[in-house]
Amino acid sequence: MPLSQVDLRTYPLDRFRPLIEPETFERAAAELERSRDLLGGRTVWHVNSTAEGGGVAEMLRSLLAYARGAGIDARWAVIEGEPEFFRITKRLHHALHGSTGDGSPLGAQAARVYGEVLAPNIEAFLEDLRPGDAVFLHDPQTAGMAPALMAHGATVIWRCHIGTEAITPEAEGGWAFLEPHVRGAPLRIFSRREYVPAVFDDDRSVVVQPSIDAFSAKNEELSDDVTRAILAQAGLIAGPGGNAPRSFTREDGSTGSVEREADVLREGEAPAWDDPLVVQVSRWDPLKDHGGVMRGFASFVERCDADGRTHLVLAGPDVSGVTDDPEGAIVLEELQAEWAAFPPHLRSRMHLASLPMDDVAENAAMVNALQRHASVVVQKSLREGFGLTLTEAMWKSRPVVASRVGGLQDQVRHGEDGLLLDDPADLEGLGEALCHVLEDAELGARLGANARERVRADFLGIRHLAQYHELLNGLLA
Ligand code: UDP
Repeated sequence: MPLSQVDLRTYPLDRFRPLIEPETFERAAAELERSRDLLGGRTVWHVNSTAEGGGVAEMLRSLLAYARGAGIDARWAVIEGEPEFFRITKRLHHALHGSTGDGSPLGAQAARVYGEVLAPNIEAFLEDLRPGDAVFLHDPQTAGMAPALMAHGATVIWRCHIGTEAITPEAEGGWAFLEPHVRGAPLRIFSRREYVPAVFDDDRSVVVQPSIDAFSAKNEELSDDVTRAILAQAGLIAGPGGNAPRSFTREDGSTGSVEREADVLREGEAPAWDDPLVVQVSRWDPLKDHGGVMRGFASFVERCDADGRTHLVLAGPDVSGVTDDPEGAIVLEELQAEWAAFPPHLRSRMHLASLPMDDVAENAAMVNALQRHASVVVQKSLREGFGLTLTEAMWKSRPVVASRVGGLQDQVRHGEDGLLLDDPADLEGLGEALCHVLEDAELGARLGANARERVRADFLGIRHLAQYHELLNGLLA
């Protein structure tokens, strides 16, 4: 079944009023109103390759609900593909990050499979797409749809969520693959200026930074009691979890309850409620460098962990639940082997948690509780377009430690709203940064408070959505 539509909610834009300055709110609302007028009943589509798992799906789910709340007919379509297609697009994903991935050629054969999988998706989409509709195509998976949709009379914008500052043969190969598909689109959106490749270095390439949804199950406020109850139920900390409900708010406004357990690789006990936690939440992807986080944590333990109570939790999605990321299972397996090679006193402090994906809101509630409970949140990626997990943690007033790579360095100002590691390979540096934050409560509190304010000012969904519509309005007008 090629291409399916994702059911979307409708959320009132007014929810943002208490969070941002009145003028900022009014400007955003006006931009959306203008889109509604310019569209005159036509649809704004967003197309990507997964409805669940990963940052893009996360953002679309909420941004489009607010667009609908502002009276825009926003819809979300997800393409279908076979494993070979996703292998190739994962290869492309790595290439645009400047890395080799599985090293397979991105030549004519790959292009043929790519085109063959997109063709039935395009055909199915054209049944619903009307001339004059607007389409945001997300990432390499959907880029190849652009020419056919434009020929059908749609206004097409390509939104690329990944990239690298470095000009490498890998990245050039990836861009050479995509260039013919995207060349004709009137606008391409990147997450950083540095990610605009030479082939697209013109005034049709613009920058929009991502955002988080402050009101979702991932980011909603949780009391300590509820946080504790959720973490204990999930097996992420030792019980008892207390009597508080393990509750979270679903997209439709109803209340859910965390019932499932995470699948955790650990030796011995789960951390106690008052043990400090160092947390990284990520897909199981080599660029997230989970192994480096474990080694950095080991360095911290050796340096300054006087009371021996701090634990590391690496959390990611249960690998059977994420369809467009075939690599996850392999990476997790390798990581488990790496974990097993640590001496027992370190193994007993490092937990590899696969969070169930059967119910995405329940999964989000677990992530929320983990991030809120963390003493430090780490994002030690080797490359990162923009790390949503970092912004999520900052919104929760957590001190963060991140690599100075890609978008992470735009999200955090070193020493002000978090700490940056100049060299992501510097594991001693990670150990030292953890020592700083965990041993200096005042520093942790200051970084955390600034982090919250930074997200409020710069990284909430309303800013992001208004920018999309400002750009679209420019094309439609
Ligand atoms: N995430 C999640 N459950 C997990 C692991 C990750 O919901 O088990 C979410 C995470 O909270 C974040 C997104 O997936 O919202 C990952 O986005 P990010 O930009 O950090 O990385 P990406 O996966 O896009 O490379």
